[in-house]
Amino acid sequence: MSEQGFNFIGGRWVPGDTGRTFEDRNPADRDDVVGMFPLSSAADVDAAVSAARDAFPAWAATPAPERGKIIWAAGRLMEARKDELAATATREMGKILLETRGDVQEGIDTAYYMGGEARRMFGVTTPSELPSKFAMSVRRPLGVAAIISPWNFPMAIPTWKIFPALLCGNAVVFKPASDAPATAYALVRILEEAGVPPGVVNLVFGSGSEAGTALVEHPEVDVVSFTGSTETGRRLGESCGRRLKRLSLELGGKNPQIVMADADLDLALEGAVWAAFGTTGQRCTATSRLIVHRPVLEEFTARLVQRAGALRLGDGLDPATDVGPLVSDAARERVAEYVRIGLEDDGAELLVGGSAPSEGVFDRGSFFEPTVFAGVTPTMRIAQEEIFGPVVSILAVDSFEEAIAVANGTRYGLSSSIYTRDVNAAFRAIERIDAGITYVNGPTIGAEVHLPFGGTRDTGNGHRESGTEVLNVFSEWKSVYVDYSERLQRAQIDTGLPGAAAGGASRGDSGEEAPQGSTPESISGSFGAEGGE
Ligand code: NAP
Repeated sequence: MSEQGFNFIGGRWVPGDTGRTFEDRNPADRDDVVGMFPLSSAADVDAAVSAARDAFPAWAATPAPERGKIIWAAGRLMEARKDELAATATREMGKILLETRGDVQEGIDTAYYMGGEARRMFGVTTPSELPSKFAMSVRRPLGVAAIISPWNFPMAIPTWKIFPALLCGNAVVFKPASDAPATAYALVRILEEAGVPPGVVNLVFGSGSEAGTALVEHPEVDVVSFTGSTETGRRLGESCGRRLKRLSLELGGKNPQIVMADADLDLALEGAVWAAFGTTGQRCTATSRLIVHRPVLEEFTARLVQRAGALRLGDGLDPATDVGPLVSDAARERVAEYVRIGLEDDGAELLVGGSAPSEGVFDRGSFFEPTVFAGVTPTMRIAQEEIFGPVVSILAVDSFEEAIAVANGTRYGLSSSIYTRDVNAAFRAIERIDAGITYVNGPTIGAEVHLPFGGTRDTGNGHRESGTEVLNVFSEWKSVYVDYSERLQRAQIDTGLPGAAAGGASRGDSGEEAPQGSTPESISGSFGAEGGE
């Protein structure tokens, strides 16, 4: 058995406790087994968390620029192996090579960004309200970080989490998605090669229900960073809430692209095709609602249908393919079910796609045709629920106001986009769309690693990944006050004396007596009724 069949705990590749395994299969060709991986138990998770706990103090004490060098080295290894990593990711989760290369590139960019951040990680220094007193804030690591990732960005999402967690000085236990274990294995091999000390990164394969639950509930885990469905995220929220455990959630989306009558229609069309059908519609930021101003509805719809119908479905490893398979047969069944639901909705019209081709090579994979519904109204289930497949709905609107209302009319708030040439409308949209990301004249996909990433409402719980915002997930702020006045100074104590509201400000730095008889003794001798803490 190759090392793919092992967990990585305390710097060693070890078999799972129970000997049970699961298969990783190619969704474009079910006969192709990518690898076998352990179905880890709670005992495996416990061993990984213990190893992380043991490794944490030395890693936390390692200067951040030294930690950054290792992250940087991992980026260089990823760059050297980009094609190989992309091919592995395509083979196990299906999206086309162009996109898995982009997925790996996002990981490389994150490595270099976080490696560079190692020499910043800025806190603040700020004036104290009292004389001869210095005030600053510094970041501290939390301890053991649990990383739970989905399969749709098998390289980028784990790096968004693991690199900042390591940079901040935490030790990591990583439980990747069961549909993308081989890419996770390759990433951890790279971290090992880059010089991450034993126990600082641990990898535990297995199911969400068993290994994932054990990890989230483990008392020695200090922070959980999760990306996945809103349903799972809600369960984790309940579990972590009971334990007062820090939890960062990046969840689902139902992302709108607004197309106004004054838009550059060619551009709006390019954006819609890319964002609705890229990654076979399995991006949290995929466009699933096209909100189209009625004057351009007919033309836009006709052209979209033509473009969607012309996309070439196939194996993502074939450079001629535009759209790869869905990740699994279960995912395909879920998408087919939503198409059935759409067909039953009064007024919704299936214009193209809607089927799972099964002839020839399609017989062996989880393929589904790019699908467009028109005549969809905002309350229909296909306009409300995340389908996570190549299905897009067109909703007609009569005004900008209505477009904004429809865009905001779901429980999600991840990404959004507006195509318009009216600069005032663009800025009003930026102001009024309730989402974590808004693009103007660009598709709903394409986030860059140095800006915050995340969403509002049911898309998460207020945290952000990427940018420097992610450091707030993986570190704790400590405020530090250094008083070099050589006497007791008390903040926020009102002495009742004019000019002495900042109690203790009775002497200047020169040590001269303050006016109006306020002496250090007279202040320190009486405990004020007001205090900050
Ligand atoms: P999922 O079913 O929620 O799974 C995500 C991860 O959680 C997997 O590793 C899964 O393990 C694990 N898991 C499942 N149940 C668990 C539990 N009870 N306790 C702990 N871990 C558990 O989501 P998915 O289907 O893989 O991913 C698709 C969803 O992710 C979509 O809703 C998409 O919008 C969302 N997503 C969001 C973002 C974002 O940044 N906002 C980015 C990408 C994807 P198994 O694989 O073993 O089940």
